[in-house]
Amino acid sequence: MFSIADNIQNVRKRIKKARELSSLKYGESSSPSVQLLAVTKKRTAGEVKQAISEGLFDIGENYLSEALEKQQTLQTMVGDDEYAQITWHFIGPIQSNKTRSIAEYFDWVQTVDRLKIVQRLNEQRPSHLDALNICIQVNINNEESKSGIVLEDVFTLAKTIDSLPNLVLRGLMCIPNAHQSMQELQKSFKLMENQFTQLKQLYGTVDTLSMGMSADIEAAIDGGSTMVRVGTDLFGKRT
Ligand SMILES: *Cc1c(COP(=O)(O)O)cnc(C)c1O
Repeated sequence: MFSIADNIQNVRKRIKKARELSSLKYGESSSPSVQLLAVTKKRTAGEVKQAISEGLFDIGENYLSEALEKQQTLQTMVGDDEYAQITWHFIGPIQSNKTRSIAEYFDWVQTVDRLKIVQRLNEQRPSHLDALNICIQVNINNEESKSGIVLEDVFTLAKTIDSLPNLVLRGLMCIPNAHQSMQELQKSFKLMENQFTQLKQLYGTVDTLSMGMSADIEAAIDGGSTMVRVGTDLFGKRT
């Protein structure tokens, strides 16, 4: 039985090793820093608290009502000062009637995939808060079951996001098909990286390529990921 603290240490080691391999393979300059996002869907506020006490302050949630409830509980548990250090990432599908709360209670939204959502998040972001950080979700394997836009449409949506005062375009995010071969997976990551590189050249705010989950941390970092989103390998299997 491993503790969450042990798991975090192991995942950090995996990230470090993957970065070292990638800098050996591609040269130092192509090895960006890789952020670890703790994905806490179906986890308790107490489990999030354990992650925070290990210095893991980037927290990702998929379901709005679950997230809001957990945020409140957690704030009571850890106090305002520690709570304020947390960066909240929304990483679930977005219904347009949920955008107001997402704009109020999150710092990042990684699953933006249409104009209507972009406009609503911009309008509804409270003026006393910093601009909301946005990643465009790409449906890299064109799966019907998944949200996201096709790669070719990234530039149009990016241009609008960049033009809006209450949003900051940070980059791209994807959830590749988990059932493809390693070779196909690597190809998917490569396509994402190419688009990310082009986007970075257009917009100075772009610095985030969010890809890689428990099962494919290494392949994603090899493919240029700057942020891996990990749930299972930190907290155990979800029931
Ligand atoms: C659940 C989830 C993750 C984490 O997946 P694990 O396989 O548990 O690491 C990452 N990203 C998104 C968008 C998720 O929904």
